[in-house]
Amino acid sequence: MQKPLTDPVDVGLLSASRTAFRRTYVLADFERLRDGLAKDEGSAEVEFRFHAANEFPALEGEVRARPWLVCQRCLNPYEQAVESPFRVAFAPTEEASARVPEGYEGVVAPHGRAKLAELVEDELLLALPLVPMHASPAECEGAVEQPTPDPADVAVGPGDEKTESQRPFASLRELLDR
Ligand SMILES: [Zn+2]
Repeated sequence: MQKPLTDPVDVGLLSASRTAFRRTYVLADFERLRDGLAKDEGSAEVEFRFHAANEFPALEGEVRARPWLVCQRCLNPYEQAVESPFRVAFAPTEEASARVPEGYEGVVAPHGRAKLAELVEDELLLALPLVPMHASPAECEGAVEQPTPDPADVAVGPGDEKTESQRPFASLRELLDR
């Protein structure tokens, strides 16, 4: 049994041994993410699979979490399902990170070391919706009432619509006839 990995990890070593593992992170421990959370609850399940992408140590995996966010439609907290696959290649410098193979995101790992928790937090922040909202208005409750228009009220007879859209041409015709 390997001893648990602590950040920062040696990405070269992990890639060379093609190490794969799962880890659970407490969401409230992520300082940047925490500001956007409606509740300090939940965790992120992360899968890591190290390998090599050409000469670069690389890592692919998936972040799965259900952070509590505030719905911008009804202002109630809800659990947002996040499933975000990632694929990164580590480079020693910014310059070298531009040369990672296609399909990989270049990540600078000074001295071949990277903080996995930081990587996970970045992935989570990227995966969160810009405007958090319940998947459908039907799931929203209370605070902001969404008046659902009665289809009978809004239905416009096809005849009416036609007359409306033809009016400009009708007056144009009048003008031309003069
Ligand atoms: Zn809502």
